Amino acid sequence: MSGGPFDTMVDTAKSGFDAAAHKPLLEAWQGLSLADIRADLGARLIAAGIDEGADESRFLINHVLAPARLSDALADPALFSWQAADQLAALAWRRLSRVPLSQVLGSQPFWTLDLAVTPDVLTPRSDTETLVEAVLADADDAPARLVDLGTGSGAILLALLSERAGWSGLGVDLSAPALAIATANAVRCGLANRAGFSQGRWGEGLADGSVDVLVSNPPYIVSDVLAGLEPEVRDHEPALALDGGTDGLDAYREIITDLPRLLVPNGLFALEIGHDQGESVSTLAHEAGLVEIRVLPDLAGNDRVVMGRRGAGASAVDG
Ligand code: GLN
Repeated sequence: MSGGPFDTMVDTAKSGFDAAAHKPLLEAWQGLSLADIRADLGARLIAAGIDEGADESRFLINHVLAPARLSDALADPALFSWQAADQLAALAWRRLSRVPLSQVLGSQPFWTLDLAVTPDVLTPRSDTETLVEAVLADADDAPARLVDLGTGSGAILLALLSERAGWSGLGVDLSAPALAIATANAVRCGLANRAGFSQGRWGEGLADGSVDVLVSNPPYIVSDVLAGLEPEVRDHEPALALDGGTDGLDAYREIITDLPRLLVPNGLFALEIGHDQGESVSTLAHEAGLVEIRVLPDLAGNDRVVMGRRGAGASAVDG
């Protein structure tokens, strides 16, 4: 075979990747055309339990070819260099061991943004865009102080700030590494001038009546369920962002109890929930004296958001 990526192959150690682990993959691809490598990688991903293996094979190849595309390199094999093949094998090796695609590629699209993602933050999910849409539908561009509790990558905070030029936002997280990612994402999205970040436990460090719009996607998976999830989630995403305790509601109890204190009169809140938590989280909100409580479904029809407001009175609980 000529014109393939291996004609000029040199020591993979020079590529900047850990050479050893992915070498068998590189060897298996020796002599194959890019079209055959694409098919082989797709089949390997599917065999590893990744249903979207064919699509992911294309994503990974496009990633190593960028700015060229797979279609360009199929027409002009010289674009698929040995460095690209080596990088592809290294990325594919990680993905085959069920590291989330977002962590392999280092970023994830969310809303209109492209966000950096590491093992220190939950990968933003499209389900969470339901929460962003719900808040936008309920709140205009009048100046507002937005707070995102457990901001992680900063996804919700930054998506909302990108749509509401009059707002300023604060992302709170217990995890210092997560805050570093969120801060970097604010810069990456050109929103750093309106986004602040602070380390803390939910709303603990925030002043009374200091929040106009409060959002959160807290951990809500029942602890016992966590062990049965896909390896991407179970082994590679932070338990701090997922584990909601024995009934999955631990974080909601803490957050919702504090909402009447944190929100201004008429202040808005929106919380992401698990598909079966609409009733329990709504009940917690009622018990805290919050009003206009609603449960909203995601695009798949599962309950995904509980939202509502603090009442107009001076004290939501007593008034
Ligand atoms: N929706 C996420 C999942 O099922 C969980 C997110 C969370 O706990 N906040 O993996």
